[in-house]
Amino acid sequence: MAKIIDGRKIAKEINESLKAKVEDFINKYKITPKLAVVIVEGDPASLFYVKMISRACEKVSIDFEKHNLTGKIGEKELIKLIDNLNNDKKICGIIVQVPLPKHINQERIQEAVNPSKDVDCFNPINMGKLALGKPEFLPCTPYAVYELMKRENIVVEGKHTVIVGRSNIVGRPMALILLQKKQHSNATLTICHSRTNDLAHYTRQADILIAAVGKPEIIKRDMVKEGAVIIDVGTNEVEGKLVGDVAYKEVLDKASVITPVPGGIGPITNVMLMKNTLKAAGKLVD
Ligand code: NAP
Repeated sequence: MAKIIDGRKIAKEINESLKAKVEDFINKYKITPKLAVVIVEGDPASLFYVKMISRACEKVSIDFEKHNLTGKIGEKELIKLIDNLNNDKKICGIIVQVPLPKHINQERIQEAVNPSKDVDCFNPINMGKLALGKPEFLPCTPYAVYELMKRENIVVEGKHTVIVGRSNIVGRPMALILLQKKQHSNATLTICHSRTNDLAHYTRQADILIAAVGKPEIIKRDMVKEGAVIIDVGTNEVEGKLVGDVAYKEVLDKASVITPVPGGIGPITNVMLMKNTLKAAGKLVD
């Protein structure tokens, strides 16, 4: 039977050490790190996500500021707000919740966030630095996967790691993180996507399989190698329940390690955002 990784427990452990680090920071610099979240015409899912961020901040004593804007705001006005946040010495991290309404160019907005405050790592400068193996910040979801594998002593070096998904939020930065020439990276990679011919041909060869697709249980038992490490990033709502991209029950006795959905990667993601925010605070006092 696979070892089932408890993401909630890991998140709690990281939170505790982070809380102590934030307290040390506040004592040393007499500044409380503050995260600003900008949300434009938020749907219930976005509003819920922002609420989770505010709770995550509260848990580690990071200040939180929400800018909840109507969909009528224009691009120029939004960039002006971001400029103000960029110049605000009390704010160390900025998040602009996506997707944005169609009349606003998402890329221009992400470029407007000062790279030193870009704790989501969406600014192309930060993605570029990550691509060059010199990251400023790691995007939170793949960072959560990386941290989990590190803490669980999963050997990545030299292992054939197959990532299913190439989004800018998960799959692509995941590949860049695991490609770094450093401890806990150095993976040998295959990246699959919707145009991959014969997905199972690749997933069956994976020592480590990372699924970030957004299709419920697309990874079946016969697509998994005996003894594989399976990291399921997918979160899909099916009949009111959250399920992953991996057919969890089917693969339980075939994998060596698996992350459940819910309770796997999800809880660690926001904690990594807090880690990035503290790192950004360090840049303000540098
Ligand atoms: P996304 O932007 O929709 O990207 C999905 C990726 O999967 C794309 O690269 C797509 O290929 C690929 N894909 C789609 N159908 C496929 C198929 N049949 N075979 C192989 N590849 C296929 O989604 P995302 O933002 O990366 O999110 C992926 C999943 O992770 C979602 O379930 C999301 O809810 C979840 N997620 C979880 C967290 C967390 O904290 N736990 C955070 C973010 C996302 P193309 O590039 O060719 O379109």
